Amino acid sequence: MERNLPNILVTGTPGTGKTTTSEMIANVTGLEQINVGDLVKSKQLHEGYLAEFDTHILDEDKLLDEMEDMVKEGGKVVDFHTCEIFPERWFDLVLVLRADTQPLYDRMEKRGYNQRKLQENIECEIMQVVLETARESYAPEIVIELQSNTIDDMESNVDRVKQWLDAWKTQHGK
Ligand code: ADP
Ligand code: MN
Repeated sequence: MERNLPNILVTGTPGTGKTTTSEMIANVTGLEQINVGDLVKSKQLHEGYLAEFDTHILDEDKLLDEMEDMVKEGGKVVDFHTCEIFPERWFDLVLVLRADTQPLYDRMEKRGYNQRKLQENIECEIMQVVLETARESYAPEIVIELQSNTIDDMESNVDRVKQWLDAWKTQHGK
């Protein structure tokens, strides 16, 4: 079914700037942000907490049920570090934010991540796990890798999305 507005997935290793960038995209375009991590917590869409990994165990079925109607409407910017759990048809554009080791480390340290989580995430980013998973999960031509090291990067990324959205609207007669 054709949507009136496209859905965009903003994904990447924790700390790459998904939430900040998604907020800016939402502000500039009028699309609506869905912060999946917040949704999972507020609606209890998890099966408990793994203290050792400082993470919640997702209840994927519940999460997808919860999101289905919102996404069906279109016009959503979905912000989550995991990209392979969603149906491919949900998204028209998948942005994978990338950051260099130093800024990523600094951001996570500021957030008070423990050493283990910090190292896991740095490794995940260096190995480009999210980028490769996104390319395996979605049509490669809709997956865009974006550098997110500086505020300038973020502004140019948001600008690029705005242009992409305008082109989408023209193309779809909206
Ligand atoms: P994520 O949602 O991917 O975990 P956030 O958007 O919460 O990341 O960003 C983590 C921190 O890094 C925030 O303090 C944010 O202001 C900062 N940040 C994010 N992206 C950038 C960027 N491109 N340049 C500079 N600082 C950034
Ligand atoms: Mn976030």
